[in-house]
This record gives sequence, structure tokens and C-alpha cells, in this order.
Amino acid sequence: MRWPVDETHDPARTSWVASANGHGDFPVQNLPYGIFSPTGEDPHAGVAIGDAILDLRACAAAGLLPASTNEACQSDTLNALMALALADRAALRGQLSAMLSDPAMEHAMTPLLHASSACTMHLPARIGDYTDFYVGIHHANNVGRLFRPDNPLLPNYKYVPIGYHGRASSVRVSGEPVVRPRGQRKPPEAEAPLFEPTQRLDYELELGVWIGEGNALGTPIAIGDAGRHIAGVSLFNDWSARDFQAWEYQPLGPFLAKNFHSTVSPWVVTIEALAPFRIAQPPRPEGDPAPLPYLRDADDQAHGALGLTLEVLLLTSAMRAAGAAPVRLSRGPATSMYWTIAQIVTHHASNGCNLNSGDLLGTGTISAPKRDGFGSLLELTTGGRDPVVLPNGEQRGFLEDGDEIILRASADADGFVPIGFGECRAVILPAR
Ligand code: CA
Repeated sequence: MRWPVDETHDPARTSWVASANGHGDFPVQNLPYGIFSPTGEDPHAGVAIGDAILDLRACAAAGLLPASTNEACQSDTLNALMALALADRAALRGQLSAMLSDPAMEHAMTPLLHASSACTMHLPARIGDYTDFYVGIHHANNVGRLFRPDNPLLPNYKYVPIGYHGRASSVRVSGEPVVRPRGQRKPPEAEAPLFEPTQRLDYELELGVWIGEGNALGTPIAIGDAGRHIAGVSLFNDWSARDFQAWEYQPLGPFLAKNFHSTVSPWVVTIEALAPFRIAQPPRPEGDPAPLPYLRDADDQAHGALGLTLEVLLLTSAMRAAGAAPVRLSRGPATSMYWTIAQIVTHHASNGCNLNSGDLLGTGTISAPKRDGFGSLLELTTGGRDPVVLPNGEQRGFLEDGDEIILRASADADGFVPIGFGECRAVILPAR
């Protein structure tokens, strides 16, 4: 299904919230949802607009929102808002866009704004389940080559959107520090594994797809219908302990190497806001099989990819102490996804598995074809063999304590105002 481009995307539309106009992430054309708490208040729903957050709960209480969305907007999670029917989601976005761009509303609505810098952000939803996919084909090739030099891409890859069930309890919002995990690793020369803090701590640049309307157990989601089951997208960092991963991953796949912490950005950029930035899924290389019919949809192939630019930045302790800015480790487009977000939703539910509003699907690491767009240190440093040299002379094979990883993303399209995702960041703390 295609998302309409409407007046909420009008590039001529500006906001009376002055900081929104020209804002890199949150102009009035974006309007992402999140859960925030102003100083002294409990967590509740808000909308990012420039450097401010509009209090959705207060808007609902003041009777400013469509009545059908009032209850969802007064919750302390976004689950109910994500579950809204398409027409209600569109009505809410339309109303917010109209109010935030109408100068006559400034007087009444200014008291409902909070400075973002004075607010704490929380997880957007109560995440019932988290699943991680593996759709970044360059990542799959790069990593496959490191783990299996002769056989990088297994024969199922071009038929099955590969994924595994992750751990929802350890998904944390941007800003919460990551404790270096302990676990089993087996150095090649050792006879038996050691139980130690990981020596190969890595990040993974991913997108997080939030499930909108769920599906009943036993009822698959048709590919042409997948769009209405997607509420929006955030940035997602699937922290990984590569030494644990190499030792534990066969025969059942990722476990403790992946479930100690995952970081998600606090703002849910809605699928409606992304409408102008949907692009054609890149054609598969010649000789690759076509997706099986349940994953094939002409409209999804024509408009199902995301026109995003993703980047990863690193700030080390030494850089922080010196007042240096974070250094960019990689930058690239999100077009290296072998499967669309609609295809991973449809595949997930294809056996009748039920998805619920607020479930989180990771895309898997998104790497561009070239090194300057690789989405993990495992790839950037060829498994730690070729360390990244930073401007201050420091080197990194993998992450050290005190390192902070920052993910960013922006959406651009000719004739539209670019929108961004805010930041997904976390600093590494020493093992306990
Ligand atoms: Ca991952």
C-alpha cells in the first residue's frame, strides 16, 4: 500500500514554534511521537517540534485532538497510539500539523510546550516482543566472509528474510549506558573457553520498525496489507559481543552475545511522515530468485524502500575530555536492505505468528557497499585486524569503556523538507 503525500508534508508549511523551521530533525513536516517526562512529571506522550515537545496528554485533556485518539494520547506508552486505525492516525497527524502551523493557535498552545532539553525521554512503547532480522545484504556478505570465508551467504538468504527472536526486556532508550557484558569466549589458541568481559564489543547500525495494528494468532498479514501494521521507525543499535557470538552461535544462533542491551532512539518517526521518502526497492542482481509470491507485491517493490541516510559517530573518553566533537565512523544510504520493511512484517506473520502493537522489529545491520558505509566495527576493522585510526591518534578495533556510539538518520527527497530521527546514543561502562 502507498502512503498519501498530503498537506502535512507541504514544504511551504511552517510552524509558530520558531525552532522547528529549518530544524534538521523535527520540522513541522515530521511530528514524531515519544514518551517524555518534564521535570517533576510522570512519563506521558509528546510530539517533537523543533527544540520543544508538545504535550499530547495535555492537548487531549484540553479537547484539542480528534476524540477517537484522546484515550491513546493520554497513555504512558505509545502502544495504544500505534494501534490506532489508519484513519485515526491520519486525523491525529493532520490536526497536530494544522495546529502547530496556525499562528492563531500560538497563544493557547504555548503553555503545552516543554523545552526538550528539560525533559527525560523514555522507551516509546511497552515492547512485548523484539525480533531482529538480517536484511542488510552487504553486512551479511561481509560478516559471512569473516565467519565462513568460503561460504559467506548461505543458500536460504535470498529466499527467507532471516531473523531470530531477540530479548525485549533489555531494550533501552537512547542515553542509558551499556555495561560491558561478561561471557564465554574461546581464543583460538585456548583449549577451553574463558568467562570474562567481552574483548570484542561492537555496535550494529539498524532501523527499528514499530508494529502498529497487530494480527490475531493464526492470521497472516498479506504483503499488500503490511503497511497498516507498521506504526513507524526509530534508530536501533543492536550491541554485540563478537567473541561470545563466534563461540556460541552454532547451532541455534545468537543468544548472550546479543541480548545484554539494545538501544532504541526515543522518537517514533511515523510511517505517514515518511511518505515522501519512500523509494523503489533496488532491483535484485541478475540471477537472484524473485521473492516467493507471498512476499511479492508490485507496489511494495515500487515504493517500499526508505530514502534515508544513516550515520554512526564515536566519542571516546579522551575526545570527551578534550572537548572534541564526535567523529563519524560511517555514512550511507538505507537502500542496502535485501527485503523491505513490509516483507519482514509479512514474513514474520506468515506462519500465523501474532504481532502486537509496540512490538519492535530490527532490520539487521545496514551496511552500504563500501567501507565508509559499513554499519559495524566488525566490518570496518575486518574483525579487529585493521583498527580505525581516530583524528587524535587513538585506535579502535572494538569498543573500549567510555566510548559512546551515536546513530543519526535523515530523510531527503527533492521538493520536500528533510526530516530526521534525533539521536540513538549510549556510552560503554566497565564490566561489573
Ligand atoms: Ca543485529
